[in-house]
Amino acid sequence: MGMQEPKSPKIAVSACLLGENVRYNGGHCNHRLLQSVSKHIEVVPICPEVGIGLGTPRPTIRLVREKGKIHLIEPVSGNDLTDSMLSWSELQSDALMHQKISGIVLKKDSPSCGIERVKVYENNNPQRDGQGLFAMVFTNLNPQIPAIEEGRLNDPLQLENFFARVGMMNRWWQRDEEGWTTSSLQQFHAEHKLLLQSRSPNAPAELGRLISQSNEDHIEKLALKYITAAQMHMNTIVKKKYVAGALRRAVGRLPNTISGTIRQQVHGWIDGYVAGTAPRMAPIAVIDQMFVMAGLEHLPWKRLFQPFDMSSGIFAKV
Ligand code: SF4
Repeated sequence: MGMQEPKSPKIAVSACLLGENVRYNGGHCNHRLLQSVSKHIEVVPICPEVGIGLGTPRPTIRLVREKGKIHLIEPVSGNDLTDSMLSWSELQSDALMHQKISGIVLKKDSPSCGIERVKVYENNNPQRDGQGLFAMVFTNLNPQIPAIEEGRLNDPLQLENFFARVGMMNRWWQRDEEGWTTSSLQQFHAEHKLLLQSRSPNAPAELGRLISQSNEDHIEKLALKYITAAQMHMNTIVKKKYVAGALRRAVGRLPNTISGTIRQQVHGWIDGYVAGTAPRMAPIAVIDQMFVMAGLEHLPWKRLFQPFDMSSGIFAKV
């Protein structure tokens, strides 16, 4: 079986976050964090507003609710851009999936790119309850692809979780290229059990059942169902107690040569991490070292904390 490390994941990014001058006011945001990880990923810039033919600079556009329906409007001209944005978004979503993107980073607050809490105007009163049209179309069509607004990447744990999801998606694409079999899907699941458990304790069992109880004839469809459900479980705020559960399970996987005293010490550090008296890094470094000393490459462990190597800047130093 080819277990070679997959290629760098492709991530679609709102072009203005990359320093491209595509915003309505001609400026850009140039996200520092994206630059720092850019050597670990392949970036695919997209700009929905330039995509539908709007110029730079351009008049502002906004979401407007009329009779319960949302429109994308250019207030100065009164132009309704809804249909052209929706059809461009469908085409572009397909194009991005052809490129096998493993994640998407979108600009918050934008009537095209914002994922949540985008202003919607009703009788000139804005309410923050909308979604940018492109973001809405893309995430509805492709719920398995991790999507995040750039603001959330400023939180180290959210950054790490996003890239853990991206890593999982990227490995899925690689297996998809090789062609799925029931056993390769089971293996994919086994490899990600600790990671899944660390986000959602019921995920390993639920997803295991999804595979074993499926009467899906087409393994490709089952693999898609699987990754969609797995990514839903991973789309969460990371909780210490769940991470601790996965760490304890990893301790249970250490070879018998590791003494009970050492195991107890590690459990003590895990308790400290949950209580906030020890950094997460303490138990992780020790468990990692014990796997190395035992000469054991334990894939589920590797998937739990090394979606990328620890020096990549993606691994949260907490
Ligand atoms: S937020 Fe989206 S539509 Fe607006 S400039 Fe950035 S990429 Fe383009």
